[in-house]
Amino acid sequence: MSAEPSASLPSRPEPAPAAAAGRRRGWAVGALLLLGVLSPLALGWALLGPARPWRDELAGAAGLLGFAALLWSFVLSGRFRLLSDGLGMDRTMRWHRAIGVAVLLLLAHPFLYSLPDGPAFARPDDLARAGSLGLSGWALVSGMLAWLLLGLLALMALGRDMLPFRYESWRTTHGLLALAVAGLGLHHALEAGRYSAAPALTWLWVALTALAALSLVWVRLIRPIGLARRPWRVAALSPAAERIWELALEPEGHEGLRFKPGQFVWLKLDTGPFGRREHPFSIASAPSERALRFLIKEAGDFTRRIGALPVGARAYVDGPHGNLVAEGRPEPGIAFLCGGVGVAPALSLIRAEAARPDPRPMRLIYGNRHAGQVLARAELEALAAAGRLDLVLVLGEPPPGWSGETGQLDAALIARRCADVAAQGWLFVLCGPPPMLRAARRALRGLGVAEARILEERFSYG
Ligand SMILES: Cc1cc2nc3c(=O)[nH]c(=O)nc-3n(C[C@H](O)[C@H](O)[C@H](O)COP(=O)(O)OP(=O)(O)OC[C@H]3O[C@@H](n4cnc5c(N)ncnc54)[C@H](O)[C@@H]3O)c2cc1C
Repeated sequence: MSAEPSASLPSRPEPAPAAAAGRRRGWAVGALLLLGVLSPLALGWALLGPARPWRDELAGAAGLLGFAALLWSFVLSGRFRLLSDGLGMDRTMRWHRAIGVAVLLLLAHPFLYSLPDGPAFARPDDLARAGSLGLSGWALVSGMLAWLLLGLLALMALGRDMLPFRYESWRTTHGLLALAVAGLGLHHALEAGRYSAAPALTWLWVALTALAALSLVWVRLIRPIGLARRPWRVAALSPAAERIWELALEPEGHEGLRFKPGQFVWLKLDTGPFGRREHPFSIASAPSERALRFLIKEAGDFTRRIGALPVGARAYVDGPHGNLVAEGRPEPGIAFLCGGVGVAPALSLIRAEAARPDPRPMRLIYGNRHAGQVLARAELEALAAAGRLDLVLVLGEPPPGWSGETGQLDAALIARRCADVAAQGWLFVLCGPPPMLRAARRALRGLGVAEARILEERFSYG
């Protein structure tokens, strides 16, 4: 275990193609999504042009942008590796939530119009609906229903942690509500939308709504069929630290999972492949091991029951997901800043890196409240003794005689322990509770570490 930061470290190499390709992919995914959200509005204006009073054009634009964003948010539900591998899982979910802003556009859109409402006002020569809104009875009904359900969807999303539902029930309701809003919104847009009446835009809306619905069918139906063909078995389960379990799964009748160290999977543990109960957990083992190992902290109703799982129980593994991946990165060393069970993905990365013939230098700064919470301590100390890892244990409540760091992983500690490797261009891998992650990011920015050199996994989508 180190008391002082290391002195001489390798200098910064040229960027490796894999990391640059990853960044390019992220940009490409972002640009495509932006294009997807803007395309209905662009198409509408290209076909008809903004001819109505500005308030009505604004209202129409809010409707078109909001509805497109809502439909694209289905594919940002976090299960499509094409998207989440490029953007990163955390960013994918942040975008999914950010798109919630679209909900505000949609909620505001009916109140922005200045033109008179209803077909009674439409002049026979006003086929382009420039002089009235032309709302028919059913279009009014679908619009109002979509508006009400959208408000409910927004309230449920904002108050998720305050609602007395289990996460799975919340997620199912969230998906069904979003689907109902999409269907009603489609009807409303096609019946009442001035721009959406243009055939090209009609088809675009139908295609986007079908894509949204398909993405739900994929996650709920098609993907589980694939999972059913590749079952896993609980091979071992043992306490790893205070209220933390180590779970080992072995493949049954297939060759297992190919993943990169640092990635995570969705686990279905006490249910069939089509069951709704599934939770994300980082893989803590190295890819060379046959079993997948996880470190699972008791947090709520699902994880509190983990310890009662019988050995031999069936499990299903959806993944791998996430881009907390150091493989192919150019940095000369890796510094891990982890809190509590957040060390799980770091362990996978450390185990894989340490097993390489030419491992990069690594430093783990690992915070816990007390010594009984430290995971894989013997293994980490053995790696430190072998010179493969610079281990810095930080305890909030240290035992008598403790000579390591004390307190929190705060800015002062991070600056003291990371200034040297920050200057050497190392990669930083962050995983832990949100306040720790925020403090660590701030501290690293203070040390001049570029965003591109920070990888982060949040153990929550909240
Ligand atoms: C990418 C990622 C990797 C993770 N890796 C680990 C790990 O290696 N070890 C570990 O102990 N924990 C990990 N977690 C956290 C773990 O998923 C939650 O603690 C667990 O799902 C809580 O479930 P619960 O029903 O016991 O608790 P609850 O009290 O129901 O949930 C606590 C919180 O966990 C989140 N959560 C619950 N269920 C889900 C779900 N199905 N999907 C997404 N979020 C959910 C919600 O924010 C919820 O508020 C990870 C989370 C994420 C997002």
